[in-house]
Amino acid sequence: MTLRRVTVLGATGSIGTSTLDVLGRHPERYRVHALTAHRSREALLAQCRRHRPAVAVLDAEEDASWLRGQLAEAGLATEVRAGREALVEVAEAREVDTVMAAIVGAAGLLPTLAAVKAGKRVLLANKEALVMSGALFMDAVTRHGATLLPIDSEHNAIYQCLPVEHRGGLRCHGVTQLLLTASGGPFRGWSRDALARVTPDQACAHPNWSMGRKISVDSATLMNKGLELIEACWLFDARPDQIQVVVHPQSVIHSMAAYSDGSVIAQLGNPDMRTPIAYGLAWPERIDAGVEALDLFRVARLDFEPADEAAFPCLRLAREAMAAGGTAPAVLNAANEVAVEAFLAGRLGFTGIGDLVARVRDERLVAPAGDLETILEADVLARRAAHAWLARQ
Ligand code: NAD
Ligand code: MG
Repeated sequence: MTLRRVTVLGATGSIGTSTLDVLGRHPERYRVHALTAHRSREALLAQCRRHRPAVAVLDAEEDASWLRGQLAEAGLATEVRAGREALVEVAEAREVDTVMAAIVGAAGLLPTLAAVKAGKRVLLANKEALVMSGALFMDAVTRHGATLLPIDSEHNAIYQCLPVEHRGGLRCHGVTQLLLTASGGPFRGWSRDALARVTPDQACAHPNWSMGRKISVDSATLMNKGLELIEACWLFDARPDQIQVVVHPQSVIHSMAAYSDGSVIAQLGNPDMRTPIAYGLAWPERIDAGVEALDLFRVARLDFEPADEAAFPCLRLAREAMAAGGTAPAVLNAANEVAVEAFLAGRLGFTGIGDLVARVRDERLVAPAGDLETILEADVLARRAAHAWLARQ
């Protein structure tokens, strides 16, 4: 069996930790080439001790030099680097086969794109990177012969439900609709008034999934489902009207594909990200993910309902951004990142997140997304507009 060398971008996060759990179960298949984190140097040290990567990357030189000292003391030969260029380098390194893109937010775009351009097997968790750069990203996948495997549970499910060769549009394979399931988040059924009083701790306590704070808030506002709708359009070459959001509170069906003959194919499993991660790592083979078998008698029932877009406007805002095209999704994403940060810092109410995203959209910053510079500029302009709006509140 050939040994695959893996870089984990965002190793200390929720997805990064689950990835290392799966990798650790298969030492005969995988070696860790590089692990990266933003500031969590203690967590990265523990991971370096356990997985002995060739390279570790932190954002600040001060943290990198601390880690260097600790690793030297432990007698480990890991090279420690700092900064964004190092992130790009470990993503495109010649000795790497597979890159797990698990940085949260726009910060993941450049290293993820670097992995794509180096023709790697790219395991995409960092949905914001694809939302921002859509056409450009997918074009790079084709041009550089990268293998893109979706890790977001819904997209991983759809990937598993589609015919092996599904490029060239859904219709020619008889797929009529993609059914994107959503748990509905912790506030399903709540009124706008009740939502206005939600606290960050309430928003981060997801009923079915344990995740980083940013995606937890996105799940609570349904912006996560909006970003996923955009993600699905790009990954599967679908139009927004070919994607139906289905609220399914048990989070057992991870998504479905409907076909012209009336068949609907679903992927089921316990809500545990190690399943899609293991799928992406081993594809087209299957490996043990450490996930308990699904017990349908314990699940007992599966419920479905439409999403409440009046109480949760972020889903609609995302659909509109996809329809508007160009840099609109990058603008939406940047405004949302600023809004979520402000909410988590106690400077913005929960319903203010959607308000802020709508305000930034109204600034008409959108341009054709022809190149990366334009996309990155849209991100900067949208963040500036979002901060200006926050300062006026
Ligand atoms: P997290 O906050 O738990 O972890 C984020 C990781 O990225 C950490 O290692 C952190 O150190 C690193 N990071 C943060 N900011 C950075 C920056 N500016 N530069 C470099 N590194 C940085 O997040 P998560 O929940 O693991 O999510 C990661 C990505 O995966 C997100 O895009 C999220 O939408 C997506 N995703 C997560 C889940 C889940 O279950 N957690 C499911 C589907 C998709
Ligand atoms: Mg998801």
